[in-house]
Amino acid sequence: MPKHTPSTLNPRSPLVLDTRELPRRPGALRTEKRVVPAPADLGGEMIAVPEGADLDLDLRLESVSEGVLVSGTVSGRVRGECGRCLREIDDSLVVRIQELYAYENSTTDTTTDEDEVGRMQDDLIDLEPALRDAVVLALPTNPLCREDCPGLCPECGVHLDDLPADHSHEQIDPRWAGLSQLNRKEE
Ligand SMILES: [Zn+2]
Ligand SMILES: [Zn+2]
Repeated sequence: MPKHTPSTLNPRSPLVLDTRELPRRPGALRTEKRVVPAPADLGGEMIAVPEGADLDLDLRLESVSEGVLVSGTVSGRVRGECGRCLREIDDSLVVRIQELYAYENSTTDTTTDEDEVGRMQDDLIDLEPALRDAVVLALPTNPLCREDCPGLCPECGVHLDDLPADHSHEQIDPRWAGLSQLNRKEE
């Protein structure tokens, strides 16, 4: 006998999809558009969707013989910090979701593992695990403010963008400093 986690899903929870309106007839379709607050810890330490920020769900629920196929997009805002210069990153993200949720006691339900195929709990679908996987996978592990961010000067910690190209920290003997300035003027 397949084991089921007890039905604890709340149909009013923002990331729970209610399929009661969707006929259990293969091919039946319903679209689901909603804006939900992002759950906590959606992302990593360096970059994440801020908790409570709007997530736009644009989903298609389709009845298939063994369950419901959910596909569509999730979009939202991401915030983080550049891994090289620590500047704030404020970006947007669009990820695709496609997940099959098997009906309870369907063949798929009884012949697959819980981590292979999603499960329905009665008529409810918990979208959060799939959404979480998709978003976390789409986020960069080493986020950058821009592709070619030069980072910070290792000596003074100032952003290299804000420094002249010849910025350096050569230790100059104070007795020669005057001379080196003279050389620079001649260049
Ligand atoms: Zn940067
Ligand atoms: Zn420097």
